[in-house]
Amino acid sequence: MNPSIPFREFKKVLVANRGEIAVRVIRALREEGIRSAVIYSDPDRRGLAVLLADEAYRIGPAASRDSYLQGPAIVELAREIGADAIHPGYGFLAENAEFSELCEKRGVSFIGPSSAAIATMGSKIESRRLIAGAGVPVVPGGTDALETVGEAVAFAEEIGYPVMLKATAGGGGKGMRLVLEPDGLKGAYRAARSEAGASFGNDSVYMEKYIERPRHVEVQILGDEHGKVVALGERECSLQRRHQKVVEESPSPVVTPELRREMCEAAVKAARSVGYTNAGTVEFLLDPSGEFYFLEMNTRLQVEHPVTEMVTGLDLVRAQLGIAQGRALGEEYEALQPNGHAIEVRIYAEDPYHGFVPSPGRIERLRWPEGPGVRNDAGVYEGSEVSIHYDPMLAKLIVWGRDRQQAMDRLARALAELRIEGIHTTVPLFRALLQDVDFVAGNLDIGMLDRKLAAGELAPERHSEFEDLAVIAASLEHLANQARASGSPAKRGGRRSQWRHAGRRDSLRGEPWS
Ligand code: ADP
Repeated sequence: MNPSIPFREFKKVLVANRGEIAVRVIRALREEGIRSAVIYSDPDRRGLAVLLADEAYRIGPAASRDSYLQGPAIVELAREIGADAIHPGYGFLAENAEFSELCEKRGVSFIGPSSAAIATMGSKIESRRLIAGAGVPVVPGGTDALETVGEAVAFAEEIGYPVMLKATAGGGGKGMRLVLEPDGLKGAYRAARSEAGASFGNDSVYMEKYIERPRHVEVQILGDEHGKVVALGERECSLQRRHQKVVEESPSPVVTPELRREMCEAAVKAARSVGYTNAGTVEFLLDPSGEFYFLEMNTRLQVEHPVTEMVTGLDLVRAQLGIAQGRALGEEYEALQPNGHAIEVRIYAEDPYHGFVPSPGRIERLRWPEGPGVRNDAGVYEGSEVSIHYDPMLAKLIVWGRDRQQAMDRLARALAELRIEGIHTTVPLFRALLQDVDFVAGNLDIGMLDRKLAAGELAPERHSEFEDLAVIAASLEHLANQARASGSPAKRGGRRSQWRHAGRRDSLRGEPWS
């Protein structure tokens, strides 16, 4: 405990986000006795977060760049309404070093790490240099940008194929290319650079060795302003679709207490190397031989934080609030071992059996599962309109059991109780996964779900034509309502282009996150 760091009591916090994570933060604020304010865009004016917060402020129209990404306007709003701090949630401005710096300058606490830590971890080569220097294994490969094709060819020869080209400013899988053989390198190098330039305004790329069939295992850390950094165990996030996490669990089915200790120590070292404060996640690739390598650090709360909460009994958002007010982390955060097993499934408004096309519309009927060991973190309610403007994640369903088997049984039971009508969701995919021998046995790797989907495995349960018709009718009504609200008739052409836009998933997101 450093007595020179005063306790700065928050009386009001502005939540600069939407959907389930805004709701999650508002809940923690209420439990802490702190007043909550939330921003919203036009389509979110009746969002669950707006209904639950003590205060709500319109920030702009639908497009993220005109609303949730309006950093300076958000900071000024916080000052106007007398908020002591901003919680950025995940996505949008959560990993934007300029935004957190602006908060610092304008005297509003940013609930997250320093802008310097965000900036360092935002550069893949800078973070690799720093973390390797701290004695943590990083994925083998370079720590310098490859300026020419010639340099790329020579470096690939040195480390051996297959290799991964990655944007140094990367995120969301953009500017990333797998190259299996020398023939493909030149084209991939050019493509990676141009995609990186278009996505990040920075076209520099570097190279890593491609790790075959790894698992994605990450460690949750917390750091306070008094120099204490703790690791709260791991999460297994190997079930991914195109590098986006779909199902997460804790503990990992393959991490032994010994490996957990090693990975937690490595995560703490990584966090210390940047003087990290607040909540963060150190991501590793774990190869089939049991070697692990630092992949990247996410400098914010993760979508999948609830599985850690369920097996540790901690509240990570309340921990974030305490740290940001200058509180020291107590003994309850030390030497934790997972109690039982937790699994989270991400419920997206997407049709998993038609290319994961977004499924906007009105939620006509909604029944959440309840009962022992079940938690829903939702951003919607019955009657909510699901808009095409944002990330299509509606909710997370999290279950806890005394072991993995009981957690699986509860997941199956909870999914059987769950009803969402009016839109398509990823729920049928989870029901199918529970029938899959590899998923049930915990035989996971980051490509497994994509391979199974490509092979036509994980077929849905049969559902009735009536359900299809109900979804189509609800979607049409939703689009007609939207057209009416915007004052234009629901023309066929307009409707078509909206759907085409909806098919491009990246265009729906503010900032990518995982
Ligand atoms: P981004 O920041 O763009 O999301 P990451 O570096 O986090 O990129 O990698 C995203 C995903 O790509 C990882 O979760 C993993 O599935 C895969 N991946 C990244 N690097 C490698 C590698 N060197 N070998 C194998 N898979 C990789």
